[in-house]
Amino acid sequence: MTEMKIVVLLKFFRGELNPFDGAALECALEWGADVTAVSMAPPSAKDALENLTRLGVRAVLITDPLFAGSDTLSTGYILAEAIKRLEPDLVFAGRQSIDGDTGQVPPMLSERLGREIIPGVIEFDGGRIQTRSGAEASLPRGAIVTFERIRNLRFPSIFSKKGEVEVWDNTTLRLDGDKCGIKGSPTRVLRSYESTVGRRNCTFSDAGSFDALIQKALSKKTEKTAEDATLKTDEIYYVGDIKKVAERYAERAIPLDASGKTSEMFSRELRSLGARVVLFESVEKLRILAAKTAVLTGAGLCADCVSFRRENGSFIMTRPALGGNVTADIVSDAEMAFATVRPEGKRDGEIVFAIGKGAVPYLPEIRSLAEKYGATLAATRSVVDAGIIPYETQVGLTGKTVAPKVYVALGISGAVQHTSAIAGAGTVIAVNTDKDARIFDYSDYGIADDIKNLFKE
Ligand SMILES: Cc1cc2nc3c(=O)[nH]c(=O)nc-3n(C[C@H](O)[C@H](O)[C@H](O)COP(=O)(O)OP(=O)(O)OC[C@H]3O[C@@H](n4cnc5c(N)ncnc54)[C@H](O)[C@@H]3O)c2cc1C
Repeated sequence: MTEMKIVVLLKFFRGELNPFDGAALECALEWGADVTAVSMAPPSAKDALENLTRLGVRAVLITDPLFAGSDTLSTGYILAEAIKRLEPDLVFAGRQSIDGDTGQVPPMLSERLGREIIPGVIEFDGGRIQTRSGAEASLPRGAIVTFERIRNLRFPSIFSKKGEVEVWDNTTLRLDGDKCGIKGSPTRVLRSYESTVGRRNCTFSDAGSFDALIQKALSKKTEKTAEDATLKTDEIYYVGDIKKVAERYAERAIPLDASGKTSEMFSRELRSLGARVVLFESVEKLRILAAKTAVLTGAGLCADCVSFRRENGSFIMTRPALGGNVTADIVSDAEMAFATVRPEGKRDGEIVFAIGKGAVPYLPEIRSLAEKYGATLAATRSVVDAGIIPYETQVGLTGKTVAPKVYVALGISGAVQHTSAIAGAGTVIAVNTDKDARIFDYSDYGIADDIKNLFKE
């Protein structure tokens, strides 16, 4: 039990509570805090919030037609004003949402409210926490804390009763309309379409050809993809280990050193340089810096971009959207455009064996096969989330990008969040029982068979 007053920020996607936010709420409840659940959403989210009142929480729905179409910058503004009214001791949120997955709002709130941010809690024991970056500490009052999926939200007791959801619209919040919704959002979605990054022509073979396919892939000469200079932007500033990415998309790629700089210092530097496009390596520290600096500069920030190009003089940022099934082209209408991006995978490992959910029952056999080929192991997020393989090996949008000579996808369905990170591989070989699995559209060779047949002598 604690005296703490905690605001938990919640997001719903297709009626489902974001599981990361569910973990944050469960931790607050477990601690016995005085909890207010806050969600900024269309009126249709009221039912879902009402159900949560059965857990004994106060529920606030922030909704107004004026807020519709808000990007992270204006969402941060609206939520910050709501939090000011609630004056909580702590603010809890999920590390990311399952649809947008940007994780930008908490650091933006931190900048607006002058509250410290503690990202990525992996262990929670009342006031003591451990974060993904390893720090173990007690929770400082005032902080904004983000949680990994470390808990499942409890079910309400059958005897519990529903409470009222408070609806706060702009007659309650009295916000500046120019800073809300589409008007207050510097990023704009130009178009969205089905993602095809890294698509390949798949030739099917049988399980007995597995070794021959690997040998063929290993002997293949790696071709460098031609870069189209007409699509390049004049000048890109970049922070972190993403020189190659910046050079790929700009005539001039200029490194910046952000170490030891606060968001105020960094904003001043960008303004004095007249920077128009700034890329940030997608690592926790720089993602936070990007979000905080976007608040101070008003830049349009687009997270987890997979590619960029120049089109009619605009800098187009491309990222997966709507849970990743769709790719969106986004522009910044502000003077500056910020994007977070992963480094290009280093061609260090010759062969990577990637383990998907379908491969988990064969882990010992795969480990010894990988040893035989000198292959490195990697995994999908489902496997990592289940705690079977360490997080560092996760390949994908929220993991790492890889570019080995040969990428062997074992029991992987081929979600866009996964395939967007293997586009740089020399050859992709996929093994999956489902001939229609999406992974085959992103593979050079396919074995539509059970993994167990790879181990037959
Ligand atoms: C915002 C967001 C970010 C994400 N980031 C990532 C990320 O970084 N990386 C990532 O990987 N995912 C990510 N995901 C998750 C992604 O959408 C998929 O859910 C995930 O990649 C699926 O993992 P999987 O292929 O292992 O499992 P599944 O989709 O369950 O696929 C398992 C496959 O195994 C096959 N199979 C089953 N048994 C066998 C067998 N015996 N032999 C052969 N094949 C078999 C099945 O046919 C199936 O195709 C993200 C999702 C979201 C919403």
